[in-house]
Amino acid sequence: MRIHTVSPSESFFDAGREYRASEPDVPLRCCLRKSSADEPVWLFRYSAPFGKGPYSEVGPVFTHVDCPGGASLDRLPVELLNNPRILRSYNAAGQICDGVVVEPGSFDRVIEGLFNDPAVEAVQVRSVSHGCFFFGVTRA
Ligand SMILES: [Zn+2]
Repeated sequence: MRIHTVSPSESFFDAGREYRASEPDVPLRCCLRKSSADEPVWLFRYSAPFGKGPYSEVGPVFTHVDCPGGASLDRLPVELLNNPRILRSYNAAGQICDGVVVEPGSFDRVIEGLFNDPAVEAVQVRSVSHGCFFFGVTRA
């Protein structure tokens, strides 16, 4: 699988972005881990990838201001998957195919199952409680 992160430079497309000098323990979409208290972050509106037309959604995301990198793009980020998550699958036209709530420990199996459908092009991983986009997954 291939993991899709959000670059901090995406924040510049939102004139209303907010700078937070300290916002500990928020999920960072750039390097796919939680923030620490000494890391400045952006909070901004972001259009999550893969959903198109009526399925295109905009919501809040956090990234570092200066990301040190380190996200692994070929395996799931353990630190952001220690709670149940929503997985939404999309076809090439950007229409939603399926949506499932997944418990920790089952992500690899469920994502593999979603990609067994040849119509599925991509999967979004989202928060259950807040609904916000965390990261995307496509086939390698
Ligand atoms: Zn980062």
